[in-house]
Amino acid sequence: MLREFIANGSLIISGLFLTGHLFKHYPIHSAVSIKEKTLVGMCLGIVGVGLMLFSIHISPTTIADLRHIPVVIAALYGGALPSISSALIVIAGRLFLFPFSQASIVASLGMLIIGVVCGEFYKMKLSSKVKFWIMNIFSLFILSIALFINVDDKSIYLEIILYHWTISVAAGFASLYVITYINNYNQMVQTLKEQATTDFLTGLHNVRQFDQLFYHYINDAKKHNKHLSLLLIDIDFFKNINDTYGHLEGDRILKEVGEILCRTSRSIDIVSRNGGEEFSILLPNCSYSHALEVAERIRSGIEQYTFILSNGMKIPVTVSIGVATYPDTDSDDLYYHADQKLYQAKENGRNRVC
Ligand code: GH3
Ligand code: MG
Ligand code: MG
Repeated sequence: MLREFIANGSLIISGLFLTGHLFKHYPIHSAVSIKEKTLVGMCLGIVGVGLMLFSIHISPTTIADLRHIPVVIAALYGGALPSISSALIVIAGRLFLFPFSQASIVASLGMLIIGVVCGEFYKMKLSSKVKFWIMNIFSLFILSIALFINVDDKSIYLEIILYHWTISVAAGFASLYVITYINNYNQMVQTLKEQATTDFLTGLHNVRQFDQLFYHYINDAKKHNKHLSLLLIDIDFFKNINDTYGHLEGDRILKEVGEILCRTSRSIDIVSRNGGEEFSILLPNCSYSHALEVAERIRSGIEQYTFILSNGMKIPVTVSIGVATYPDTDSDDLYYHADQKLYQAKENGRNRVC
């Protein structure tokens, strides 16, 4: 009996690892959609079915295992929807993979109650840990009642219940540890990914992400014989702004310029802060003449925009822009060419497009 329960405990842990890996983009408590909640529930339901395949056969028709734990975890993940989905998969497994009997109906009803009630427990304003234990203990009560009805030989009932409760509590601790670990890990990876690709000040793509996207879009343009334009945008005399009004005011202006660039470009354009006071926009499917128009719109938009400092003072800000387009310019030289044009714009007096 102990062997099967230990096999169950190990299966739960590997099932949770796998589910956590499959749904790594949807950590617990994030606003996941109905589809994801249902899929997580079904996946955990399959773990529950796996547990039943390694259950203890108490009599030809009665089995005992830890199938309630995946349902509890599903409830903890997102309430009634995942918990009922997982319970229904477990019930289907119980009814179709094992001989049909009164015992299987009792077990299925018990599981349905667990799925529905744990979904309700999810709404309680308690910590996940406390909710987990309330759900686990409640499920054990329901399963103990179901086993009491199903086990004919009452002399072994106490022994079964003792094992069931002991292993459920031990597996509960292990499961809680595993899901907390996986969830924290998934959230951390997501945060790190965001931080690695986003500029912290403006929220635009950072230079690392720009490099990757640039590579991707240039390959795409070559493959499909499409235009790809690149604007390199640099704020004029930004050092003066910093020196005169302070670094914090400089930061405010950088943020506002970033917002203007986003507002002025299409949703498919890639706006990045490539470093310091230098920005870029990648314009897929955009010809050279059209890119010049876009650049001029941006330049005049920033020139006309009223930048207001925190003390209410209005200051003028201008930008210089270098433009290059594939295939007019060879793909390998695209960035270099745009940079040369930016340099030229600076040389020719700034606040202009080249
Ligand atoms: P030019 O017209 O030739 O581009 O002159 P410039 O002063 O804009 O160019 P320069 O390269 O001399 O100065 C860039 C300045 O940008 C220097 C640096 O203090 C400032 N800078 C770089 N990163 C940041 C930042 O994150 N925040 C702020 N406030 N300033 C920054
Ligand atoms: Mg500058
Ligand atoms: Mg610069």
